[in-house]
Amino acid sequence: MSIAATTDKSLLRTAVSDIAEVMAARPDRGTVASYIPELATVDPARFGLCVVDADGEVFMGGDAEVPFSIQSISKVFTLTLALGMVGDRLWKRVGREPSGSAFNSIVQLEFEKGVPRNPFINAGAIATTDVILSGHKPKEALGEILRFMQFLADDQTIHIDREVAASEQRTGFRNAALANYMKSFGIIENPVEYTLGVYFHHCALAMSCRQLAMAGRFLAYKGRNPSTGLFVVKPERARRINSLMMMCGHYDGSGEFAYRVGLPGKSGVGGGILAIVPGQASIAVWSPGLDASGNSHLGRIALEALATRMGWSVFG
Ligand code: GLN
Repeated sequence: MSIAATTDKSLLRTAVSDIAEVMAARPDRGTVASYIPELATVDPARFGLCVVDADGEVFMGGDAEVPFSIQSISKVFTLTLALGMVGDRLWKRVGREPSGSAFNSIVQLEFEKGVPRNPFINAGAIATTDVILSGHKPKEALGEILRFMQFLADDQTIHIDREVAASEQRTGFRNAALANYMKSFGIIENPVEYTLGVYFHHCALAMSCRQLAMAGRFLAYKGRNPSTGLFVVKPERARRINSLMMMCGHYDGSGEFAYRVGLPGKSGVGGGILAIVPGQASIAVWSPGLDASGNSHLGRIALEALATRMGWSVFG
C-alpha cells in the first residue's frame, strides 16, 4: 500500500469529528429497513463513527457508543469461526465469488444447485452458520459466537437483542425458503429451524461502533489482536477474509463500495459498516438509512470522506 506507515492522529481526530457533524446534519438519509419489523423503529437521524488505530487509540464521533443491530456484519465473524472449525472444507459448501445480486436472492441459488455464491449473501451465511452448529446444540453454537465477539472486542457487555431476533424469526420467510432449498441439496446438515434460529440470533447482536471497530482489529493487523498480541487467525486467513469483504461485503453494491471507498467492508441492514484499513485501522460506522442494495447510505458516504481525507485505500 502507498499509505503512510503511521497514522496522523490529529488529522484523524479532526476528520472523525468533522464527518460525524456533517453526516448528522445531512437531509438525505436513505430508508430504514422495515422487512424486519423491529428494525423499522430505529431513528434514521442516528449517526456514529469509530476508528481504532494501530496503537489501540480510539477516535469517536456522533452516536459511536450507541448499540445497534449489526445484522450481516456478524457474517464476517461467523465466517472466521467456521473457517477455524473446518478450514478449507467450508468451500465445498459455499463459494467465494461476488454475487452481483441482492443479499436475499433466491433465483441465483437454483442456478447454482443450492451452493451459495459466497459466505456474505444470506444463503451463504446460513450455510456457514450450519457449519458452526453441527455437533452442537443451537444454544451452545450461539454462546460460542457471542463469546467470540466479546473476546474480540474485549467487552463482556455485548449481547444479543432477543426482540430483534424474534422479530426476524416471525417474518424471515425468505431466509426459510433459502435454507429449505439448500437443505434439499444436502448443503444444510441440521434441522432448518435450528440453523435459522442461530442465524437470526447472531444477526441480532447489538453492538456500538466502538465495540464493532474493536472486534474488527484482528483483520487490520494480520490476524493479531494488538491489545493482547495474540493471533486470532493466521495472517493469510485475515488477508483472505478481507478479500472476501472487498469482493462480496456489499452484495450487488460491492463494486461501488470498492470504487468509492477502496477498503474491505461489510455492511448490515441495521445500517452499520465495518471497514478495514490493513496495517492502519479498524473502522465502524452506523447510519440506519439504506440505499437500494440494502447498504447504509450515509455510512458509505462517510467512509468515502474519511478514506479520502486520510489517504486510505488498498489500491495505492
Ligand atoms: N438478518 C438479515 C437477513 O437475513 C441480514 C441481512 C443483511 O444485513 N443484509 O435478511
